[in-house]
Amino acid sequence: MSGLRLRAATGLGRFAGVMSRTLRRGDGFVIGGRVVLAACPDAFGRLCAGRRVAFVSATNGKTTTTKLLAAAMRAAGPVLTNNSGANMPAGLVAALAMPTQRVPDDAPVVLEADETYLPGLLRGTPDALVVLGNLSRDQLDRVGEVAMVARRWRSTFAELPGLAAVANADDPHVAWAAAVISEVTWVSVGNTWTADSVLCPSCGSILRRDGADWSCECGFRRPNPSWVLTDGVVVDPSGARHGLGLRLPGRANQANAVMALAAAHALGVPVETALPAMASVGSVGGRYQTVTLGGRRVRLLLGKNPAGWAEMFGMLAPPPAPVVIAINARAADGKDPSWLWDVPFEKLAGRLVVATGERRHDLAVRLTYAGVDQVTVEDPWTTMPAAVAASDQPLDAVGTYTAFREMLRKGGGARDVE
Ligand SMILES: [Zn+2]
Repeated sequence: MSGLRLRAATGLGRFAGVMSRTLRRGDGFVIGGRVVLAACPDAFGRLCAGRRVAFVSATNGKTTTTKLLAAAMRAAGPVLTNNSGANMPAGLVAALAMPTQRVPDDAPVVLEADETYLPGLLRGTPDALVVLGNLSRDQLDRVGEVAMVARRWRSTFAELPGLAAVANADDPHVAWAAAVISEVTWVSVGNTWTADSVLCPSCGSILRRDGADWSCECGFRRPNPSWVLTDGVVVDPSGARHGLGLRLPGRANQANAVMALAAAHALGVPVETALPAMASVGSVGGRYQTVTLGGRRVRLLLGKNPAGWAEMFGMLAPPPAPVVIAINARAADGKDPSWLWDVPFEKLAGRLVVATGERRHDLAVRLTYAGVDQVTVEDPWTTMPAAVAASDQPLDAVGTYTAFREMLRKGGGARDVE
């Protein structure tokens, strides 16, 4: 009876998706998932039954890590994944109920999970593998404090003895949350942004730091990692060293790749199989794509919170190359743009910033205090300042989520959804 209900719900969801597309109300994907959930509230757990499920969650890098892990897994066999970037329950149900490719019923599942929804999702899949990257401030109006997310993770993990984890040992909140899981593979990928983990998550004292290492007077300290990223090379648990050779730029993506590599290994895919598959990934949801905007080549980057920006400076073309920064503050960006004050924009000194997006004036004020040359333009792609327009180098443009999506759409970029 209940199997019948899931099938009926899935049928309804597909119908709703098709109707939505026909009526041109978006791609119909998430709507289909909502319909399935309305008709069958426990659809998620049912759709995952009989499959090995891995969740990737973090504030930063979860989309990329999911894509890299899915690529690694696919090198060994079919895999089901949510490559649409829709990482809340309706989107995940849609990915499972309406897969874009046919896969066997027992194919493993790799899902990007929004960090606030992860606890609820795990109740439907208590034997999952969780891949935990970092926790940093992001969308404070919606996600809440970092410490609160860590507490919710930890209390949920403690109730699920079948859970296994691959977790970032360098992030104290992640280490504290995952410490209650009996089977954890600890990974060291560095942590450029430490401002959200000044205090010990266990006792509230100030953490001692020494490079990547950290400890507290209460005895809580960084777990010993078995995978370590060091200078672009990963050292595996046997001590063997592997170059990453990624097409994706920047240190943050090396960190994402090492998380994915350790997860693939935990899921039975050897390093030799996983690495070449991950190295071939060149774009994630349109990020790092070069598109044409206003008649010039523009490389698109996503910068949505302070921790992401801390890694961004190393990815930008070096000064004096100008950079376009587009700031929106819609629901998907987080409606509170005060995070701009936490980004060390002082590092952009020596280059011109073109401030755009709906909250360009907030950015302009922040850049003024940072001592960065800037010009505020409503639509730089039609009225680019002469100093920027003169250059023939590809221009870097960084946007918050909705600003990024808009540039990608205008530039005719692909979201590279398989
Ligand atoms: Zn402590």
